[in-house]
Amino acid sequence: SRAVVSSSNSDPATGLVFDSHEAAYDYYKDYAKSVGFGTAKLSSRRSRSSKEFIDAKFSCIRYGNKQQSDDAINPRPSPKIGCKASMHVKRKACGKWYIHSFVKDHNHELLPDQVHFFRSHRSTDSSSPHDAKLRKKRALLPSGLNQFVSPCSIETVILNQNDRGRYLALEEGDDAQVVLEFCECMHLGNPNFFYALDFNEEHRLRNVLWVDAKGVEDFAYFDDVVSFDTTYFSTKYRVPLVIFVGVNHHLQPLLLGCGLIADETLHTYVWLMQSWCLAMGGKTPKVILTDQNEVIKTAIPLVFPGTRHFYHLCHVLEKISRRVDYSRVWHETLVKKLNKCLYRSWDEEQFKERWGKLIQRWNLQEDECIQSLYLDRKLWVPTFVRDVSFAGLSPASRSESLNSHFDKYIHGDTSLRDFLKNYRSIIADGYEEEAKANFDAWHETPELKSPSPFEKQVLFIYTAEIFRNFQTEVLGAAACHLKKEGEEDGSICCYSVKDLESDLDFIVKCGKQGSDLRCSCGSFQYKGYLCRHAIVVLQMTGVFNMPFKFILKRWTNLATSTTPMSERLEEVQAKVQRYNDLCRRAVILGEEGSLSVESYDAAHKAVNEALCHCVHTNGGDES
Ligand SMILES: [Zn+2]
Ligand SMILES: [Zn+2]
Repeated sequence: SRAVVSSSNSDPATGLVFDSHEAAYDYYKDYAKSVGFGTAKLSSRRSRSSKEFIDAKFSCIRYGNKQQSDDAINPRPSPKIGCKASMHVKRKACGKWYIHSFVKDHNHELLPDQVHFFRSHRSTDSSSPHDAKLRKKRALLPSGLNQFVSPCSIETVILNQNDRGRYLALEEGDDAQVVLEFCECMHLGNPNFFYALDFNEEHRLRNVLWVDAKGVEDFAYFDDVVSFDTTYFSTKYRVPLVIFVGVNHHLQPLLLGCGLIADETLHTYVWLMQSWCLAMGGKTPKVILTDQNEVIKTAIPLVFPGTRHFYHLCHVLEKISRRVDYSRVWHETLVKKLNKCLYRSWDEEQFKERWGKLIQRWNLQEDECIQSLYLDRKLWVPTFVRDVSFAGLSPASRSESLNSHFDKYIHGDTSLRDFLKNYRSIIADGYEEEAKANFDAWHETPELKSPSPFEKQVLFIYTAEIFRNFQTEVLGAAACHLKKEGEEDGSICCYSVKDLESDLDFIVKCGKQGSDLRCSCGSFQYKGYLCRHAIVVLQMTGVFNMPFKFILKRWTNLATSTTPMSERLEEVQAKVQRYNDLCRRAVILGEEGSLSVESYDAAHKAVNEALCHCVHTNGGDES
């Protein structure tokens, strides 16, 4: 009775006959499923005389144009984008239905792999298990990703996962649809918006990842360190959100990606990180920070084999503080000892000794959590953090962290819909904050506060935010008392530095001309610029220029420029000064020139001439 689509992707042949308009719609749905779009019943018409249906029209879900929503402040994303694909059927006098007209072409991408997600296909979906398995595999391994993970490790991931039936814990019935509509809508607004969907074997949405166009752009400049933050998920927020966070040269947090996840399986984390990597064009971070989590620890080397992995220090410290019995006397002394053990142990030996004593005093030798932290020590103890910089992304408490910036957009009871609405403000606020900082960068010149050559060295080089922080270190060096402790193998000297402000002792080692410079406080590793203790040592040894490797390009006004940073910082400084001066003059020109059409024309002409002249002077070819 019902026409059957003989092979997938076949177009409806004219001349098909249906018993009813429902049969015709079923046929259209099957066709849509094989090709990859969602369907809607557009209209049907009854005969005036017989009251029977005589005419029906079915269409692509994106048929027609978006209607003006009543709720203009919070418009719901609409799938309608004026697609014309449709099928019009009419009943003939004999009672049979014929295809009257058929529009095949769509004005958008078709999604055969995700077709079961469309509302119109969900109730009747019954793909074979074989299809589901294939789809799962495909979801796990998006095309083009094969180069990132060796096939054998992927197989292991699949074999170890019995993830049938897990799905995204969303509350309201059509939340999954809301997520898809959000992603499609964002993608329509900006084709560089990236999203990936992962479905379980029952074709229910399991994991989602998206990266905004701004996130992709930002990561191109700031790929040195990324924090993968699972706090919202692990503290059981209503929205099962995980985020990728970076930091720009103004010390502002960057939202580099969002995921909604169903669970904490290896499948989920591998899928999520692979999809994120795909969004970033295959680029991986040099350092990734995460909470202590065995599954994540396994996933990272699979997806990012060249990336160094560390734990968020604040997460570990919170864990430790939960194990410690606060009621015990001498607690304060022990906290001091813990700080000394963590922050001021020079090498593994010293750390082991101090840690062992502490754990004994706290009676935590048998504590499994403490044992696992000890086994993972190379992933979090500051003593082992070398030759990297976290650029401020791993502070000692979460409230100081840049990640906590996003806490204002999501609370424990924020619903998915509200979060997705807020998402646009996260992005908009991010753009605005950055524009403000860039604007300030050439409106407000930072001032020197001391005659220190180090301060002068980075004036105009560092962004204003980093310059201010570094300035504090330069000034703090005045309160550091230095004592030479001895010489190691002839070239490296060891100093003990007493910081009178914090009343703590630090060890600094330094070779000739500031080479192999390292301080036990770990400031450079954690914050990305030299500490007062290292500064005072450089000064004492007669080095008045910081070695170039301690001035990270990511903190400079050249961070988002493709020009490589010259080692001759004076050149950079002079260039930044010239740039700032021209920008200021341009603003004045803009204000004055826009007052009348005549002055505008004059200014416009002069600017064009000046530009041609500059290009010519610099030896470029003007076209
Ligand atoms: Zn369409
Ligand atoms: Zn230091």
